[in-house]
Amino acid sequence: MKRTTLGTISAVMVLVLVGITSLSQAASPAGMKLYAFSSGGLTIAKSALQSGASSNPITVPVGFFVVKHPKGNFLFDTGNNDKIISDPSYWGPFIKGLTPERGPDVAIDTQLKKIGLTPDDIKYVAVGHMHLDHGGNVCKFPKAVFLVQKDEMKNAAWPEPGTAGPYIPGDVACLRNDLGEALPNKTKMEQLSGDLDVFGDGSVVLKSWPGHTPGSQMAIVRLPKTGTVILTSDNVYFSENVTKNLLPDISLAYYPTGILNAYEYIRVLQGRENASFMTAHDPDGPAGKARSSHAPQVFE
Ligand SMILES: [Zn+2]
Repeated sequence: MKRTTLGTISAVMVLVLVGITSLSQAASPAGMKLYAFSSGGLTIAKSALQSGASSNPITVPVGFFVVKHPKGNFLFDTGNNDKIISDPSYWGPFIKGLTPERGPDVAIDTQLKKIGLTPDDIKYVAVGHMHLDHGGNVCKFPKAVFLVQKDEMKNAAWPEPGTAGPYIPGDVACLRNDLGEALPNKTKMEQLSGDLDVFGDGSVVLKSWPGHTPGSQMAIVRLPKTGTVILTSDNVYFSENVTKNLLPDISLAYYPTGILNAYEYIRVLQGRENASFMTAHDPDGPAGKARSSHAPQVFE
């Protein structure tokens, strides 16, 4: 009897240890790669992105990211809607307010072609949030599964007071099914209420992180050589925001405590996994280099 109990305890301990080991080692499959792109650029006062900074305008990239994984390609954020290249009225006052770069090179199809992909080659599309410079092109991937937080879809469709501005109704409306259909989704969509291990191996994990918007999420990408990379979407704008705990302007901080907690989480992963992070709008980060060089930045 005693032996059986000890045996059971040992078996449980082994299972626990295996569990811990598999979590900490989160296998990155051979050949997995991360690419950083920019969907043109925007011009905005630095003080909007970092409280206390100069109100002089700066040009920032509009980052989006692709993970090539043996089980499929994963896209994180989709940039500005390509419609504005030929029809600036689609963005209303934001065309003058943000002066987005609108040359043909910024189109997401043209960008993906640089790494040999078409929109139909993308298996999963996730957005950090649905603002105009992140959710713009979600409808260009009808064959993909769309991964978004439920709270973000609700706010994009009918925003909380004070948060409506950066959501373009057309970016959301195109996800709706045909008139008269009872099921609302036109294509495959998973509305999440929490985290998701996208490929089931810990190499790409969506982290629900309300902060910049009610349904923001970040992506943790674990690469074979580079190691752990956190794709922050707009929970972080610049490296300095993290090191000095600087929030953006209140108009870009739905839940300020969530943003500060994101900074703390980054520091935890820096300590635990030697992680780095990439934001969408840091001119000195990979998206900024992709914008200035017109070439995606690759990480293995
Ligand atoms: Zn943004």
